[in-house]
Amino acid sequence: MQDEQQDRIRDRAHAIWEREGRPEGRHTDHWLQAEQEGSAEGVEPVASAPESPGDDAAPGTPGTGEDVCPTCQGSGRIEGKACENCGGTGIVIKGVAGG
Ligand SMILES: [Zn+2]
Repeated sequence: MQDEQQDRIRDRAHAIWEREGRPEGRHTDHWLQAEQEGSAEGVEPVASAPESPGDDAAPGTPGTGEDVCPTCQGSGRIEGKACENCGGTGIVIKGVAGG
Protein backbone atom coordinates (compact mmCIF):
# COMPACT_ATOMS: atom_id res chain seq x y z
CA MET A 1 0.00 0.00 0.00
CA GLN A 2 1.18 3.45 -0.83
CA ASP A 3 -0.21 4.92 2.40
CA GLU A 4 1.68 2.45 4.50
CA GLN A 5 4.89 3.41 2.82
CA GLN A 6 4.16 7.08 3.34
CA ASP A 7 3.58 6.40 7.01
CA ARG A 8 6.92 4.69 7.31
CA ILE A 9 8.67 7.52 5.60
CA ARG A 10 6.93 10.03 7.83
CA ASP A 11 7.95 8.11 10.92
CA ARG A 12 11.48 7.90 9.69
CA ALA A 13 11.57 11.57 8.74
CA HIS A 14 10.32 12.40 12.21
CA ALA A 15 13.04 10.27 13.76
CA ILE A 16 15.67 11.98 11.66
CA TRP A 17 14.27 15.36 12.63
CA GLU A 18 14.56 14.49 16.31
CA ARG A 19 17.98 12.97 15.79
CA GLU A 20 19.21 16.23 14.34
CA GLY A 21 17.93 18.27 17.23
CA ARG A 22 14.58 19.23 15.74
CA PRO A 23 15.75 21.99 13.44
CA GLU A 24 13.12 24.09 11.77
CA GLY A 25 12.58 24.25 8.06
CA ARG A 26 14.32 21.01 7.28
CA HIS A 27 11.21 18.99 6.69
CA THR A 28 11.90 18.35 3.02
CA ASP A 29 15.48 17.33 3.69
CA HIS A 30 14.39 14.86 6.31
CA TRP A 31 11.65 13.51 4.12
CA LEU A 32 14.05 12.91 1.26
CA GLN A 33 16.56 11.37 3.62
CA ALA A 34 13.86 9.13 5.03
CA GLU A 35 12.91 8.05 1.56
CA GLN A 36 16.47 7.19 0.75
CA GLU A 37 16.98 5.28 3.97
CA GLY A 38 13.74 3.47 3.37
CA SER A 39 14.84 2.46 -0.06
CA ALA A 40 18.14 1.26 1.29
CA GLU A 41 16.33 -0.98 3.71
CA GLY A 42 14.13 -2.41 1.04
CA VAL A 43 10.85 -0.69 1.93
CA GLU A 44 10.64 0.22 -1.67
CA PRO A 45 11.75 -2.36 -4.17
CA VAL A 46 14.72 -0.94 -5.92
CA ALA A 47 16.43 -2.36 -8.89
CA SER A 48 19.61 -3.85 -7.61
CA ALA A 49 22.26 -5.34 -9.73
CA PRO A 50 21.69 -9.06 -9.70
CA GLU A 51 24.64 -11.21 -9.09
CA SER A 52 24.81 -13.24 -12.18
CA PRO A 53 27.42 -15.94 -12.27
CA GLY A 54 29.03 -15.96 -15.63
CA ASP A 55 29.45 -12.23 -15.72
CA ASP A 56 32.50 -12.53 -13.57
CA ALA A 57 35.80 -11.95 -15.19
CA ALA A 58 37.63 -15.15 -15.73
CA PRO A 59 40.33 -15.94 -13.21
CA GLY A 60 43.72 -14.91 -14.38
CA THR A 61 42.43 -12.06 -16.45
CA PRO A 62 45.30 -10.66 -18.40
CA GLY A 63 46.49 -7.32 -17.18
CA THR A 64 49.95 -7.82 -16.06
CA GLY A 65 51.88 -10.99 -16.15
CA GLU A 66 55.19 -12.42 -15.27
CA ASP A 67 57.54 -13.36 -17.97
CA VAL A 68 60.97 -14.82 -18.13
CA CYS A 69 63.54 -12.11 -18.28
CA PRO A 70 64.82 -11.95 -21.83
CA THR A 71 68.09 -10.44 -20.77
CA CYS A 72 69.26 -13.25 -18.55
CA GLN A 73 66.95 -15.92 -19.91
CA GLY A 74 65.43 -16.35 -16.47
CA SER A 75 68.66 -17.17 -14.70
CA GLY A 76 68.68 -13.82 -12.91
CA ARG A 77 72.39 -13.56 -13.44
CA ILE A 78 74.63 -12.38 -16.17
CA GLU A 79 78.32 -13.23 -15.98
CA GLY A 80 78.08 -13.80 -12.27
CA LYS A 81 76.25 -10.57 -11.50
CA ALA A 82 72.64 -9.92 -10.81
CA CYS A 83 70.76 -9.12 -13.95
CA GLU A 84 69.84 -5.46 -13.95
CA ASN A 85 66.82 -5.96 -16.12
CA CYS A 86 64.99 -8.16 -13.66
CA GLY A 87 66.91 -7.35 -10.53
CA GLY A 88 68.21 -10.87 -10.28
CA THR A 89 64.88 -12.56 -10.08
CA GLY A 90 64.88 -13.88 -13.60
CA ILE A 91 61.32 -12.69 -13.89
CA VAL A 92 60.02 -9.49 -15.37
CA ILE A 93 56.54 -8.09 -15.05
CA LYS A 94 55.08 -7.17 -18.35
CA GLY A 95 51.96 -5.24 -19.00
CA VAL A 96 49.79 -7.33 -21.21
CA ALA A 97 47.06 -4.81 -21.76
CA GLY A 98 47.43 -1.13 -22.31
CA GLY A 99 51.12 -1.35 -21.72
ZN1 LIG B 1 67.13 -10.76 -15.96
